[in-house]
Amino acid sequence: MDFPDFAEITPTAPILRDSHGWRAKCLQRLIRLELPVPRTVALPAATVRAIAAGQMPDTAAILRLFGAEPLVTVRPSPENPDWGGPGSILNIGMTKARHRSLCASHGEVAANAIYLRFIQAYATHVARLDPDLFEATEPSDEVLRAALRAYEQEREEPFPQDGAQQLSEVLRSMARAWEGTSARLLRQAKGASPEAALGLVVQEMALSLGPGECGAGVIQFVDPVTGAAQVTGRYKGQAQGRAALQTEGALYLTRDRRGPSLEEQCPEVFADLIRHGAACRLRLREEMQIEFAIEDGALRVLDAVRVARSNRANVRIAVALAENGVISRNEALLRVEPRALSELLHRQVDPRGVRDRFARGIAASPGAAQGRVVFSSSAAQASAARGEPYILVRRETAPEDIRGMNAASGVLTERGGITSHAAVIARGLGLPCVVGASDLRMNAKDKTITAADGRVFREGDVITLDGTKGEALAGIVALQEPALDENFRTLLHWADAVRDIGIRANADTPADAQMARNFEAQGIGLCRTEHMFFDEDRLTVMREMIFADTPGDRRIALDRLLPMQRADFTRLFEIMHGLPVCIRLFDPPLHEFLPHDREGMRELAEALDRPLSDVVRRVEALSEFNPMLGMRGVRLGITLPEIYDMQVRAIFEATIDASRKGAPIVPEIMIPLVSAKREVELVKTRIEAVAAAVRSERGVAFDYCLGVMVETPRAALRAGEIAHHAAFLSFGTNDLTQMTYGLSRDDAGRFMNTYVQLGVYPEDPFHTLDIDGVGELLLIGAARGRQTRQNLTLSVCGEHGGNPESIAFCRKAGFDYVSCSPFRVPVARLAAAHLALNDPKPDL
Ligand code: PEP
Ligand code: MG
Repeated sequence: MDFPDFAEITPTAPILRDSHGWRAKCLQRLIRLELPVPRTVALPAATVRAIAAGQMPDTAAILRLFGAEPLVTVRPSPENPDWGGPGSILNIGMTKARHRSLCASHGEVAANAIYLRFIQAYATHVARLDPDLFEATEPSDEVLRAALRAYEQEREEPFPQDGAQQLSEVLRSMARAWEGTSARLLRQAKGASPEAALGLVVQEMALSLGPGECGAGVIQFVDPVTGAAQVTGRYKGQAQGRAALQTEGALYLTRDRRGPSLEEQCPEVFADLIRHGAACRLRLREEMQIEFAIEDGALRVLDAVRVARSNRANVRIAVALAENGVISRNEALLRVEPRALSELLHRQVDPRGVRDRFARGIAASPGAAQGRVVFSSSAAQASAARGEPYILVRRETAPEDIRGMNAASGVLTERGGITSHAAVIARGLGLPCVVGASDLRMNAKDKTITAADGRVFREGDVITLDGTKGEALAGIVALQEPALDENFRTLLHWADAVRDIGIRANADTPADAQMARNFEAQGIGLCRTEHMFFDEDRLTVMREMIFADTPGDRRIALDRLLPMQRADFTRLFEIMHGLPVCIRLFDPPLHEFLPHDREGMRELAEALDRPLSDVVRRVEALSEFNPMLGMRGVRLGITLPEIYDMQVRAIFEATIDASRKGAPIVPEIMIPLVSAKREVELVKTRIEAVAAAVRSERGVAFDYCLGVMVETPRAALRAGEIAHHAAFLSFGTNDLTQMTYGLSRDDAGRFMNTYVQLGVYPEDPFHTLDIDGVGELLLIGAARGRQTRQNLTLSVCGEHGGNPESIAFCRKAGFDYVSCSPFRVPVARLAAAHLALNDPKPDL
């Protein structure tokens, strides 16, 4: 469609957001609502582009649309308000002659203020003169003359005295400012395309200075932080523009004990504003902030913009609009960005506070935490016993740190990436965590950390972690509380009603399971059983089991672990009652359970009543060069089968116990790190034998489901034959990524930044699923598996499961569910709903 160079905005004028920008379109809507908007002319993007290239529209003709001697303002109108744009320029048309007539009609004070403001804006933004020369001062005749003189001296020409010329120059400078490099980069960072264009609007000035009640204000009808319905804003008499509202002397809008209000001073105008606000909400289907002016007692509505709001307020506003029937539930869902929800689940560093950052790393688990620095799990436990919050600082964490992490407020590590041990565990616990803070130097012996700027922090010093931004801050910083309120739950229930992929949680402990229920996950998709063995009393038994010389001795130790495991599983089944629970058999290499330092080995020798040399020899024998590719997962299950025997017995006995209290439980048992069909056959045979034994011992029947975790490329390639023995395949994309790339999850952080910066990898593949490589293995595995078994259940349980892009991929590939840390479940539920709404699956 070809547009004229400019057009007055009327209810029926062809004004489109695409061509004229959001502001022009919004003003047209306000005009259609019969709000008292001053006359406005819109210049489409094509005209503005021509202006930037030196081709001016007939500005005298534009001004004629506003009558004799008009004063106007020019405002930017990009397609999206977030894309910024040059600042508005007010009072265009002010000349000496107009100043004289204004002195007569509005008084000298008002006339001076209006002229001076224009000279200041024109000199600095259009003529690009030094702002210091035109500093804001109280307008007076003298100041006005000085400003005109300064302009003339600097430019060596008089201040332009022709309105049309002034308008041309203003339009030209705004059009060119939009084309500037930094403006372009800024808006592109906010999602604008490189071709994004600018529209402009020229609006008749509402003279909010002069006789009678005159002033400027803004009003909105919700609290921008909480989203609660509440009139907020400011009004200032004898003032122009938004900036004036920040200065002293502004009034409250509603009655307020702290001072006078617009409601008392101008009750009719106030009532009109409330009415207009309600009309905007209903017809523009959004909470708007209205910018207004009062001109000799008459209200003018200059502009309206969507209320800038916190993520928390955004949820509340979307739900309220849908509950009031203003928008549909689906639209409310689409108005909330899924990732923004994670901010509501945790305390956050208050963005208004001062930040004294001493280290930067990877934002591994969101939220803010503060406490005293501790360097070891034993110091952590001492702090926990004293009830003191603490931040566990480690070079990297190991499974034995779980106790220290459990009670910590946050975790900071020097090494590691997004799927390192610290990151995975912290996300599971909902613990703020920063990993890979490689500009820190940690000295465990001296118990110090040294920041890049040389500052040293010692054990006991207080720090704040910002796990959302990946920063460590010195001292105590103001925090904001989480907002798990009714609105949040309502929105997520609406999401559940539309989404078409399941969302489960990865949960290892009863506390995790409770969290999974709180966040309304549809079951547990991955229970990593090894985390149950790190409690102090169990660790010793576990070590006895590891040190057993014969299968018989091993069984004795395992018999002691059995009731503990059974109790763990019974508790999980009870908490998750009615929902599926998928338990992964033991996975990590055994050396993770052994002490690494001399002192620890000495203690162990004492506990086991063995010679120290024996312990040292055993630790050395079990230590691996490449533990992630070593004796772990199903390999351990095959070489030391008693471990899995004990675990499945515990699962079956817990199944019987927990089923007594309600509907029968059907546990899902998952074999980790499979790479060959035969591994599954061997484990399956033993599991069947244990099941038969438990059934006959207890005289009770039960069912279970056996599945395989696909974590090696070979398992994905051979999924067709593996599926003969598996009711489900769950893709462990952490290990699968590691093995597909040949990268170590724990060490890749050392070069990941460089790799991403140089574009070797588009993103950290442990963070964002590598669709091209790992994704292809998922597709191959899924297709081959389903070819063998049509009703094969498919899922992802690696860290990618909580990531909206990965969920999109899995949904497209026909997966049944994704499973992620409990704290990521809400984001996943909403992201899945967005996918179902934006890309509905065809009805089968
Ligand atoms: C995986 O490898 O993706 C997985 C879920 O298992 P873990 O992270 O425990 O190795
Ligand atoms: Mg794994």
